[in-house]
Amino acid sequence: MENNHSAGQAAIPPFGEREECRGFRMTLPSLEIMQANIGRRCNLACKHCHVEARPDRVETMGKDVMAACLDVFERRRFKTLDITGGAPEMNPHFRWFAENAAERGFHTLVRTNLVILNEEGYRDLPEFYAQSGVELVASLPYYTEKDTDRQRGTGVFAACVSVLRELNALGYGKAAGPTLNLVYNPGGAFLPPNQEALTTEYRKKLSELYGLSFNNLYALTNNPIGRFGKFLERSGNMTGYMTRLTAAFNPAAVENMMCRNQISVDFDGAIYDCDFNLALGLAANIPHNIRDLGDAELTEREIVFGNHCYACTAGAGSSCGGTTA
Ligand code: SF4
Ligand code: SF4
Repeated sequence: MENNHSAGQAAIPPFGEREECRGFRMTLPSLEIMQANIGRRCNLACKHCHVEARPDRVETMGKDVMAACLDVFERRRFKTLDITGGAPEMNPHFRWFAENAAERGFHTLVRTNLVILNEEGYRDLPEFYAQSGVELVASLPYYTEKDTDRQRGTGVFAACVSVLRELNALGYGKAAGPTLNLVYNPGGAFLPPNQEALTTEYRKKLSELYGLSFNNLYALTNNPIGRFGKFLERSGNMTGYMTRLTAAFNPAAVENMMCRNQISVDFDGAIYDCDFNLALGLAANIPHNIRDLGDAELTEREIVFGNHCYACTAGAGSSCGGTTA
């Protein structure tokens, strides 16, 4: 199935019809990752945000959908619960969800923008995370204040450094402590640099300048949708960016596209192949909401591709867990 959305894609070969993609149109028979997008509300409004989260968004996952996620996770033997948003911490049932997942022994990771952990009402969360053993995947677009604040807003970098110090003091990012992974994404219409080299650079700079440590760095490619897509259209860069992504198509990245091994559940329980398809409203080929899902309905399925998928296969590939090729 193919869905092509953005303007500027007319000359781009349809992603799903590429010879190299044909053998990988289906998911794996048994999925390992359940990503739950528990709301669009966020304390930030970043320039590259593909779900266009901001402080006044109201979409919020209720406890009934969360409970259904936990049940399906257990029944279908998923391996990782990946909680995202918006700022997932701003969902009023977030603690309940994360606590229940931890009590049931699920490997749980939370995607955090860090800044929220510095705000009134959320200051207890670093301790809560450390006690629950939650893995953290934290956005830090760059190791300099100027570049980070340009992308995410004034004061973001300083808040991130302060929270990272606190997380390090709780054991996060140390060899024996809970895992703290950082996420880099480009500040414009270009591909990320080499993940390994960037990791070395981040490690050196963050350690030297701020005494910070972390476990891994994921270098992600910006997907040309949502707020970033609108920026590309506005600035006349969409065609150039899509051409760049297409020219950098790497057949070796196709096999490990994250959609082959996961489902993404939206705040209302609707199911998607990934968070990008969720943002675009491209529902997965699964007939039911997570609340009414039959056991037979999570077997191998055809993935819904579009030309935004070129962002996942450009260069070294890109997924929520970093490069794929
Ligand atoms: S990119 Fe993340 S932190 Fe920034 S607005 Fe979107 S959800 Fe919030
Ligand atoms: S955007 Fe990426 S993860 Fe989503 S369906 Fe396309 S290739 Fe798969």
